[in-house]
Amino acid sequence: MIEGKTFAERLIYWYTERKRDLPWRKTKDPYPVWLSEIILQQTRVDQGLPYWVQFMEAYPTVHNLADASEEKVLRLWQGLGYYSRARNLHATAKYVANELNGQFPSKYSEIIKLKGIGPYTAAAIASICFDEPRPVVDGNVFRFASRYFGIEEDISKANSRKVFERILSEEISKDQPGTFNQAMMEYGATICSPVPLCGDCGFRLDCFAFRAKKQKSLPVKTGKTKVRNRQFHYIVFREGNNFFLNERVGKDVWSGLFDFYLIEGVASEELVMSLIKENWGIDEATLDDVSEPFIHILSHQKIHATFYTMSISAMDVKRLGEKSSLRAYSTEEMLNLPKPKLIVNYLQRIGIT
Ligand code: SF4
Repeated sequence: MIEGKTFAERLIYWYTERKRDLPWRKTKDPYPVWLSEIILQQTRVDQGLPYWVQFMEAYPTVHNLADASEEKVLRLWQGLGYYSRARNLHATAKYVANELNGQFPSKYSEIIKLKGIGPYTAAAIASICFDEPRPVVDGNVFRFASRYFGIEEDISKANSRKVFERILSEEISKDQPGTFNQAMMEYGATICSPVPLCGDCGFRLDCFAFRAKKQKSLPVKTGKTKVRNRQFHYIVFREGNNFFLNERVGKDVWSGLFDFYLIEGVASEELVMSLIKENWGIDEATLDDVSEPFIHILSHQKIHATFYTMSISAMDVKRLGEKSSLRAYSTEEMLNLPKPKLIVNYLQRIGIT
């Protein structure tokens, strides 16, 4: 039984009784709330929680985060993916600490101007921390609202968000907008989930989808994301205790993280070895091992990676230094560098943790 007269009252009643106990829900301070919202984009709560705790321990204030090096921030972020989130987080921390004297803006229209903050995050911070009645619309809200209110807009189209925002603007609690928003997201995550728990749902009697038996067809989403397959050949040059890595730059995945020398494309072991020989005169006799393929899934990419370990000589090291941006790192130094999860997985498989 859900008590209350309006949709908002009933939802907030449910939330107050059933919400998961999460540390960022105990505060209205925008710094921890913002941190949680950025971490939880495209990340499940159980996966994101330890990261939030680590960040709050390492950088308890926005000033601490602003003063950290990007390398340290990326290292702490390692494993969460979507590294542009971490870089934007760091840039915004610097801006808030240095330009705004550590004070977060308090209005949606100002919050949304910050780097890495879109309509969803701006609405979450404005409502939770500053009681501005702005509805949030994330994947969970799309699902719950489309089913309950019977909104049949295609959520893969950019304009649909406005339709949801307009309807939710009428429903949002003016007294507790932050609680309403968190309740919408929580309900979509736990009850009106992809396979909805209609039997446990106190809204079913007036739910459009339940009455029309349309739970499976809502929300409407036509646009399918195309997955790009990529073949990565990583050359792991080793000289004694040293490994050779470089920092990724540019617009491709993992910019700012460190990985081994990469040859991309469909290639055989022979072709990879001949390229190495052509580049640096390093002989295939130095090849120690070729790994089993690793499959690494990103949101729109499937990476098939093979690692070639080569034990090189001091002479080879000189040639490497002359014709690449690779640098030598001891095992310990390498472990402290920010690296893509794929590289961490490989190192774990060969016993380096
Ligand atoms: S009845 Fe089912 S579809 Fe409707 S809101 Fe509840 S869980 Fe979602």
